[in-house]
Amino acid sequence: MFWTKVFIPTLKETPKEAESLGHQLLLRAGFVRMLMAGAYTYLPMGLRVLEKIQGIIRQEMNACGASELLLPALHPLELWQKTGRDKDLGEVMFKFKDRRGRDLSLGPTHEEIITDLIKNNLSSYRQLPLVLYQIQTKFRDEIRPRFGLIRCCEFIMKDAYSFDQDETGLDKNYQLMYEAYKRIFSRCGLKVLITEADSGVMGGKVSHEFMVEAPLGEDVVCLCPKCKSAKAAKGGSSLCFTCNLNMDQVNTIEVGHIFKLGTKYSQAMQANFPDSSGQLKPLIMGCYGIGVSRLISAIIEQNNDADGIIWPQEVSPFEIMILPLDVTNQALMQAANSLYQELKASGLDVLLDDRDERAGVKFKDADLIGVPLSIVIGKKSIEENNIELRVRKNKSTQLVPKAEIVQFVKKLLV
Ligand SMILES: [Zn+2]
Repeated sequence: MFWTKVFIPTLKETPKEAESLGHQLLLRAGFVRMLMAGAYTYLPMGLRVLEKIQGIIRQEMNACGASELLLPALHPLELWQKTGRDKDLGEVMFKFKDRRGRDLSLGPTHEEIITDLIKNNLSSYRQLPLVLYQIQTKFRDEIRPRFGLIRCCEFIMKDAYSFDQDETGLDKNYQLMYEAYKRIFSRCGLKVLITEADSGVMGGKVSHEFMVEAPLGEDVVCLCPKCKSAKAAKGGSSLCFTCNLNMDQVNTIEVGHIFKLGTKYSQAMQANFPDSSGQLKPLIMGCYGIGVSRLISAIIEQNNDADGIIWPQEVSPFEIMILPLDVTNQALMQAANSLYQELKASGLDVLLDDRDERAGVKFKDADLIGVPLSIVIGKKSIEENNIELRVRKNKSTQLVPKAEIVQFVKKLLV
């Protein structure tokens, strides 16, 4: 795509409302804009990152046998009253009446909704196990929405739900999700700490949190300086059981949380299935969440330098940029355009900076938006039939013969 067509409103100054580094960079690089506290617009660049993250999640969920569906965001409050969670969540839920006087809510999560769906549509134990997921907008009336996409009132989540006949089935699905989560976060360029956690308002016996170390994080995790094992910093001595060393306390953001729910929801909502002998039994459930929109901020918190964002390749809005240094030079633009076509034809996501701007502005913006590779096309390089390739991460540059550039780039991006 061409820069002048994408709409990338970069900012020279740091906006006053930015509360963290990730938030500052998202605003400065033209990825998001705030509508009001807790509600954000994803500009074209932000949306591209969001879609890349969603693509990774879909691949990994589908690979472990989960199927995607889409549940409504608008819920009848009576389903929430069956489990009593309308009271547990309290003012966090957006509640209101429609014109008929029905009590409604905007979904903060979907356990009740999916349990009701499965209860009404499951006729045999042969349909189990079943794992369903969705990527959807959730609503929570946060007291203090903060840090851009980290704590919002409207945000995007991936939530998956497993339904099994017994605990052994749940253990198997839980383990599959646990491993899938590790792959998802690694592909997003994140180092995560995994801790056994409190199940809180979700209920159930076992849960694990996937945490990203970041100075703004509001959850404190104890981390062993030697073996790097982590645990939630609650009451709990902060001594590593393996190494007998004092653990460090680090601030983290929660990006994923998985729960063995057991029968909490199925019993409250009478979601039963007939087993092989025809006896009705409550479904054994698990639920598995990822804060999808929050991940964008978490990735930036771990991947940046003084000049801007450094996107991990798989989630970068584009894989490579072309920077023609003088758009008024016809020969130079011809070279840039033909390279653009060639790279696109080879399957790469390419951004061509076709703005009539000084080289300094283009380099600064390229560093700010953080695309992993840039090709610089100047007068000299065209005359000498060489292309200058810049790597965003370490700012290294190298000259590559023009005829070899596509193969060279593809190798770097593998
Ligand atoms: Zn240790």
